[in-house]
Amino acid sequence: MACLISVLVSTPAHSQIGGALTYQSELPLSAGSLVRVPLGRRETLGVVWDMAPGHTEMPDAARLRPVSAVLSGLPPLDASWRRLVEFAADYYQRAPGEVALSALPPPLRDLSETQLQRRLRRPVAQRRASEGPSSCDPTPATDAPDAAGQGLPLSREQQSVMEELRQGAGSFLLFGATGSGKTEVYLQSVQELLQREPDAQALVMVPEINLTPQLQQRFLARFAASCGPEAVVSLHSGMTNPQRLRSWLAAHLGTARIVLGTRMAVFASMPRLRLIVVDEEHDPSYKQQEGARYSARDLAVYRGQVQGAKVILGSATPSLESWHHSRPQAEGGRYTRLHMPSRVGAQARLPLVRRVDMNHQPRRAVIAPPLLEAIQQRIAVGEQSLIFLNRRGYAPVLQCGACDWKSACPYCSAYRVFHKIDRSLRCHHCGFAEPVPRACPECGNQDIAPIGRGTERLQEHLAELLADVRRAGSRTPGNPDGTPVHVARIDADSTRHSGSLQAQLAQVHAGDVDVLVGTQMVAKGHDFRRITLVAAIHADNALFSSDFRAPERLFSLLMQAAGRAGRDATVSGHSEMWIQTFQPAHPLFEALKRHDYPAFAAQQLRDRASAGLPPFAFQALLRAEARTQAAAQTFLDAARAQAQSQLSEMAGFAQIVLYPAIPMAVQRVANVERTQMLVESRSRVALQRFLHAWHPLLHTVRQSEAGRGLLRWAVDVDPLAI
Ligand code: ADP
Ligand code: ZN
Ligand code: ZN
Repeated sequence: MACLISVLVSTPAHSQIGGALTYQSELPLSAGSLVRVPLGRRETLGVVWDMAPGHTEMPDAARLRPVSAVLSGLPPLDASWRRLVEFAADYYQRAPGEVALSALPPPLRDLSETQLQRRLRRPVAQRRASEGPSSCDPTPATDAPDAAGQGLPLSREQQSVMEELRQGAGSFLLFGATGSGKTEVYLQSVQELLQREPDAQALVMVPEINLTPQLQQRFLARFAASCGPEAVVSLHSGMTNPQRLRSWLAAHLGTARIVLGTRMAVFASMPRLRLIVVDEEHDPSYKQQEGARYSARDLAVYRGQVQGAKVILGSATPSLESWHHSRPQAEGGRYTRLHMPSRVGAQARLPLVRRVDMNHQPRRAVIAPPLLEAIQQRIAVGEQSLIFLNRRGYAPVLQCGACDWKSACPYCSAYRVFHKIDRSLRCHHCGFAEPVPRACPECGNQDIAPIGRGTERLQEHLAELLADVRRAGSRTPGNPDGTPVHVARIDADSTRHSGSLQAQLAQVHAGDVDVLVGTQMVAKGHDFRRITLVAAIHADNALFSSDFRAPERLFSLLMQAAGRAGRDATVSGHSEMWIQTFQPAHPLFEALKRHDYPAFAAQQLRDRASAGLPPFAFQALLRAEARTQAAAQTFLDAARAQAQSQLSEMAGFAQIVLYPAIPMAVQRVANVERTQMLVESRSRVALQRFLHAWHPLLHTVRQSEAGRGLLRWAVDVDPLAI
């Protein structure tokens, strides 16, 4: 008699086949096995799933289609991986099949059993069969500490943090200043684990791997020598499919001891996972913005619990959620907070923060005179300055001086940005680009002018301001060698081609750059050694945002930016962070001046508590997209009405607040109108229960009159931007 097998397959996003499909098989198959199954007229990859109780009794078993093939060369995906997938699907309101299949490397979908066998015979897999995983013993073969697989002697703060990590269990928040040596703590924690447990694995997550090449290099340098080059693999979306498959297989088979990756890596199959590091845990890129909108940081904490792995969340400016979770246990905290307030090195200091009151500067000054002078002084002694402006392009708008024409995007409710470098107008939302018109398209006037300023214009402006300054010879500070000052720029435009970011960073590291203009791309993570002055030009913009997370994000960005200054102890004594602001007395800048994240966080948390905002409340967004605002609105209004009429008797419904639908901040993108509705509750359980009950109603509304004209809808649980 054939066995009934439950299989997860990837179904179209909102098809109502939510759970697993049932097939039959000659042989019993254990949960987690990969199979190929017929689906409609095609054949697709599936994951054998745990059978729901009572499922084996199905009467029409004979009519079920058989499993086509079993990828028997692979060990099944283990129970903890399956629980992670179940949890993510359930919590983020998606089909488990979608979550499971999108967590597997794409080439697995098309590989036949024979092709897979061939892959498995390649070196990575063979090594396991013959030798087992490496013991990662440090082999003092070379002089450099990293290449020998040995760590640096730790500072006192690092030592006590390591001790707490050894003694403790569960999740930790490593709250360490920029340059306090968090990375060294990650490296040594991983090292201790790998030496202690001969088959243990560690997962190290970073927000954007391309922005942190140094971290990757440090892990490779530290572990490649002792564990073998295959022991460290990467997993991120910038890899080719074959590379991703290779890394995934190495992690799944246990040959990879360390997986370094971006948010997607949280789903890597790692049967021996014992330690998870989430570096820069506050970074918004840990939140997936399409499909299952999961937070990789939050899933990492869940995964740690399920798999009994320690979890280290690290940041100099933790998310307020993690900060709140790491309050003392007696007050309900769940994470252990570890503190490293000082920079490594006896003389190393955090930069002095200076506010420039723009109310008292010459009108129209982009760079206040005292700041310009400070930059010139740095150039004179051969040190670098970083000027931070979080807006790329030349100018955000082009405007006609005679009529009212502005460079609006025809497809979005946004202006197209002027890029002088190729004389184009580009929409940063839909990508639509056109050459800059010679004259106003409305009235023919020749006088069209850029309004405002992006990094490109700032670079040009600084080069003009510094045109007469000569740079210091790099070996003889204060002694001009006569060459002009080099003002460089790093942003998403300057680094479009692969490898160009690395090349540009190398120029900065080599000292070929005097002044670096950049977006948040350069404010994060980089270990610059010669930058001693950082300046934020338009720091105020975010203070007026309607997003309640804007101050948190601004504070963290400015702290990160400040963290790029004075990273070398020999120059940190006079490093500075300049803030140009019209509101110098704003509490955010006061806290920044003192490098006082705890004070800032305490004030923000008080505000959030009294306003009933996260982390004291839980939110979800229902998003709708349609050709017209009316169609999107109608769907959301009907969804709300359904909730109120059908679910009002449900337990916990009284704890749910449904807000009216409102258009999104940029309400039209690529001719699609976007609207959203906020759902909020003081209780996470009540919110989850509500969302589960609401979901089937949303499908019904979609199919009704109210769903006509709707293109897409989606639920975003714990949204980051509202
Ligand atoms: P963070 O990740 O906290 O910003 P890093 O780990 O990058 O800090 O450390 C900052 C700098 O200090 C790096 O250049 C690193 O090599 C160095 N460093 C870290 N720990 C030590 C140590 N114990 N002894 C000497 N240098 C260290
Ligand atoms: Zn005009
Ligand atoms: Zn557009």
